[in-house]
Amino acid sequence: MAGAVPDSTDTPLMRQYLDVKARHPGCILFFRLGDFYEMFFEDAVLVARTLDLTLTSRDKGKDNPIPMCGVPHHAAAQYLQRLVERGHKVAVCEQVEDPRLARGIVKREVVRIVTPGTVVDEDSLDPVRACHLCAVILDRGKAGLAYLDLSTGDFAATELGPAALLDELARLEPREVLLAGADEEPLQARLRVPFTVLEGPLSVLVDRERALGLLSPVLAEEGPGGLKEARALGTLALAAAAEVVRYARETQPVGRIPVHRLASYRTAEHLVLDESTRRNLELSRTLGGERHGSLVQLLDETRTAMGGRLLRRWLGAPLIDLGQIRRRQDAVEWLVERATLRTELRILLGEVYDLERLAGRASLGLATPRDLVALRRGLEKLPVLVAELAAQRGALGLPSLLELADDLCVDVAGDIARTLVDDPPANWREGGIARRGLYPELDELIDLRDGGQSEIARIELEERERSGIGSLKVRYNRVFGYYLEVTRANLDKVPAEYIRRQTLANAERYTTEALQVLERKLLSAEERRLRLELEAFEGLRRRIAEAALRVSTLAADVARLDVLCAFAETAHVHGYTRPEVDDSCSLELTEARHPVVERLAAQGRFVPNDLLLDADGLAGAQLAILTGPNMAGKSTAMRQAALIVLLAQTGSFVPAKRARIGLCDRLFTRVGASDNLSRGESTFMVEMRETATILREATRRSFVILDEIGRGTSTFDGLSIAWAVAEELHERIGCRAIFATHYHELVALGGSLPRAKNLSTAVRERADEIVFLHKLVEGGASRSYGIEVAKLAGIDGSVITRARQLLAALEAGESGEGRRGSRGRQLSLLAAIEAGPASASAPPAVAVVAEPSAIERTLADADLDSLSPREAQALLYELKARLRPRA
Ligand code: ATP
Repeated sequence: MAGAVPDSTDTPLMRQYLDVKARHPGCILFFRLGDFYEMFFEDAVLVARTLDLTLTSRDKGKDNPIPMCGVPHHAAAQYLQRLVERGHKVAVCEQVEDPRLARGIVKREVVRIVTPGTVVDEDSLDPVRACHLCAVILDRGKAGLAYLDLSTGDFAATELGPAALLDELARLEPREVLLAGADEEPLQARLRVPFTVLEGPLSVLVDRERALGLLSPVLAEEGPGGLKEARALGTLALAAAAEVVRYARETQPVGRIPVHRLASYRTAEHLVLDESTRRNLELSRTLGGERHGSLVQLLDETRTAMGGRLLRRWLGAPLIDLGQIRRRQDAVEWLVERATLRTELRILLGEVYDLERLAGRASLGLATPRDLVALRRGLEKLPVLVAELAAQRGALGLPSLLELADDLCVDVAGDIARTLVDDPPANWREGGIARRGLYPELDELIDLRDGGQSEIARIELEERERSGIGSLKVRYNRVFGYYLEVTRANLDKVPAEYIRRQTLANAERYTTEALQVLERKLLSAEERRLRLELEAFEGLRRRIAEAALRVSTLAADVARLDVLCAFAETAHVHGYTRPEVDDSCSLELTEARHPVVERLAAQGRFVPNDLLLDADGLAGAQLAILTGPNMAGKSTAMRQAALIVLLAQTGSFVPAKRARIGLCDRLFTRVGASDNLSRGESTFMVEMRETATILREATRRSFVILDEIGRGTSTFDGLSIAWAVAEELHERIGCRAIFATHYHELVALGGSLPRAKNLSTAVRERADEIVFLHKLVEGGASRSYGIEVAKLAGIDGSVITRARQLLAALEAGESGEGRRGSRGRQLSLLAAIEAGPASASAPPAVAVVAEPSAIERTLADADLDSLSPREAQALLYELKARLRPRA
């Protein structure tokens, strides 16, 4: 039922609507009318089209009917979610007074604005992914970046250059971006998420005092991440942080945003992974865009949502500090060694709800009684968890990272337990949520209600006996209160003192004086009870909001424990080992595996490989040129090395029998153009731009893997670029690098540069077939086996035969006496073409080349340099005349 709806724009209700709408430009207005949220005018047209709803109109008969559509309030969340997913902003306008008590028009206010980056509804959030709202402020080639996850209060800011900005945005995967600054235009084109360009001059946005003023209501003055520390931030970072907070607060006019601390960070504090490296290593999505099959998804053995989010964060920003890495490793090792304890901890963790987001929802004033009971149940598990850990502490103590905060928020759990029943109803606004014993008055009111119910039952029984109407019932509805219902067939038995209330088709409804007295008593008690219950709940929610910082500090410890348990579980189940991470420049992997391929594409038949690289040249070459056929495992071998570095610096164990890893500062992965077509990018240009970035930014401590660089252009251009890039990596940068290529000419580099070596993927040749051994061996591959792979892929036999013929011709031309190089190749090819496609009985291509044709002989004998233009033309005429007419 759509409730009262305006007849024209000039009604009080419509004026109220237009007033609220004018104060929220750029938002779709969900306007609460009774049980519906209604939309009018252009909002109605847009929403009806977007959500496939029926567009109706008010005042149909009149000149200017108002377009309108609506959604029932109880189902609003899903409609909101769909609108926000499409990048819209929705202002939710509620009735903020009881319509029964309202004088004139019911007061309405916008209670929250839902935008893609500020959604906090449980249904719209992915439990294991942060929901980042970012602000970027650009000025003179520098950027301030801040991000906030409104569901948890995670809030941080930094300053960086434009290239690093894109990489950092790729890491944060924001749901929405606020943008300001002179250079924002090119950035807009690169962003694939909804963004808002901030209004007002840059000079105002970067005013430090203004920014601090915006931050001061949410940050404490002192302490880590407080206002005092914020003063030390660069102006652009400070301004970006202030804008994020301003925007977030505007979306939550009622609740308090759960922000307490502003972390300041630098991207160089972590192993830097640029956007293309993240993509090519398939960290959070596969190259095809799927989450399934990504590294993160495969490694996620966490049991809590908080742990799931932290795991993604850790893998997105591995460490570069040896001490920190080793501390994580110590904790993982301790847990690997204690399988029973680990299992018990993981069972307990599985019962801990999302403490961080529950505390956040309490701050925002959105937590329901069920949310708070879930928070309580989670908190109650923690002392058990701590006891489990303590019991196993052993002589050497517990690794520090496994310890939980001293403050287990026991009082918070106790407060919830005292206030709320164990299983509150979903429809909590009707009451039934407060625990007995909370207030004596409430208990009395509950008794009265329960007693009232039995008194009603007694009246029903008495009236049945008195009237002789066996089917008489006492019922209740909101409009008429309590009444006695008598079916039409029994109307003649109704006692005279019954007072008629309502006539229905099949029945009449009555009341009596006794029932009216009881009703008054019950209803006022009920109203008071409901008010007391709701007050008790609101009070509790406020207290939890005040404790939100304590809860989220504890939640962070639980999340860390969860991730460390997950690493240990993976290590145990999949046979990972602790890598030795040091400050050398070497990379020594023994029997290493690709963490994803070994479990998916090549499950049960994965061939482990060794790798030895050393930028100091002490233990091995610094640069490996990797050749071998397609599909032989080159990409897998390279990526597994990069992934093992990444895992090791995250603190995880790694899929290898043994690993020694000299700390890396950056990982670069560049995959040649042909492998990247599915992304629809302008391939060669992108490839070269990314290669340029690597050559500019890689240091001696970086680890670079290049897969088929230079393939997006002609052979000689590509080869020359590949050659020069390999030399640069070796000569100037001197980092550890693997360079996979189909240009066999590069094998010469592997042999000649002092700190380079050749590796290849071994194959076994059988008749005219090949078998991939997936084994890395020293030395370059002698050939590409492209035709054999094409055959394996199912290319038709006649095409394969012809390709072999042409290849043989080309190779013969390449090596033929006196006609080397492209001229020799062209001649041989010409001969092969002249011979026509091979039939099943045709002699092999090489035989054709052994007897050159007349045309070929003439061409070979001609000294082109000494021919005059006229003679050259004559020669061409002659050759043409000799061409055999083709069938
Ligand atoms: P291309 O040159 O065409 O890119 P490639 O040499 O890089 O090919 P990969 O893509 O690494 O080959 O591997 C092809 C397939 O071979 C993988 O999808 C996987 O199924 C299998 N494979 C790769 N390495 C191994 C291995 N070590 N053990 C078992 N199977 C493997």
